[in-house]
Amino acid sequence: MLQIGLGGGIGSGKSACAAALKALGAQVIDYDQLARQAVVPRSAAWQKIVARWGKDIIGVDDSLNRAALAERVFNSAVELAALNSFIHPEVYRLASAQLHQLPENSIVIHDIPLLYESDLALRTHANIILQAEENIRIQRLVENRHFTVEAAQKRIASQVSAEKLAEIADVLIDNNAAATELAEIAGQLWREWLLPFAKNWENQERFFAPRGKISPRVRFFANLPLIVRRLQKLGLAAQILADSSEEKVIQIEKGNMADRDFCRALRESGLLLERGEIKAANPRCTVVFQIAEKK
Ligand code: ATP
Repeated sequence: MLQIGLGGGIGSGKSACAAALKALGAQVIDYDQLARQAVVPRSAAWQKIVARWGKDIIGVDDSLNRAALAERVFNSAVELAALNSFIHPEVYRLASAQLHQLPENSIVIHDIPLLYESDLALRTHANIILQAEENIRIQRLVENRHFTVEAAQKRIASQVSAEKLAEIADVLIDNNAAATELAEIAGQLWREWLLPFAKNWENQERFFAPRGKISPRVRFFANLPLIVRRLQKLGLAAQILADSSEEKVIQIEKGNMADRDFCRALRESGLLLERGEIKAANPRCTVVFQIAEKK
C-alpha cells in the first residue's frame, strides 16, 4: 500500500487534486470529512466542544455550527489548540480504521489540511504539496466556497506558510492555473509517477523512471532533510553529507541490522530499491545513499 500525503493551505486545491486522483483509481482519505464525522452530535468530541464553548455553537438539531465555532477559535492559538485536542485523536482513529479496510495494493491519498502539523508527513512514502498565490486562493474561496474576502484572509493567515509546507514536500504543484490544468497534472502524476512507484513498491525490484512529459508546474523536490526525518522516524540513524545542486548524499547507518529489516525500513520511508541501489521516491533527483555498516 503506497501512502501519499496531500497538503496545502486552504483554497490551494487539495480537494480538487484528490478528486482527480480518485477518478483515476486512488483511494482518498478525506480528513475534512473525518473531522465532520468526529463531531456528530453526542460524540465524545462534540461533548467536549459544547462543554467548552457553550450551546451557542450548536444548531437546533444539535449539530455543530461550524461557522460560529470557527469564529471562536481561529483568532486564538489557545482555543484552536483546545479544539484540535478534542477532534484530532478521533480523526486519526477514523483514518486508521478506513485505511485498514482498503485493499493491500491501494494507492492511498491522505487529503489532509494539517499535514505539516501531523507526524503523518513523516509516515507517508511521499508528500505532494499544492501551492497557489494568496490572491488566487482568496478569489476561489470567495467565488466557490462562500467566504468573505476578510474571512479568507484570516483563515490563510492562521495557517502555516507556503515556505514551511515546502519543508515536507517531495513534489510541489503550482496550482495557479485553470482547474483543467490541475486535472491534467493529476493524470500525469498518476501515470508517470504514482503507478510505477506503487508497482516498484509492491515488487521491491525495479523502478520505472517517468517516460512521459510532466507539466513544468510540477516540481519534484530533492528534499534531503525530509528523507532524513523519515528515516529517523523509523529508527535509522541518517545524516546529510552533501546537499548542493551538484551533489546530494545521505549516509544511512545500517549498523548490524539484518538486511531484511534494513530493506523494510527503507521501504517504509518511501525509498525505492533498484538492483541493490537505493533511490529516492522522487525520480527526478539523484540522491546518493551511502550505507555505513558496523565495523
Ligand atoms: P481546504 O483546505 O478547505 O480543504 P482545498 O485546498 O481543498 O481547501 P479546494 O477546495 O480544492 O481547496 O479548492 C478551493 C476552491 O477552488 C474549490 O472550489 C475548487 O474547485 C477551486 N479550485 C481548485 N483548483 C482550482 C484551479 N486550478 N482553478 C480554479 N479553481 C480551482
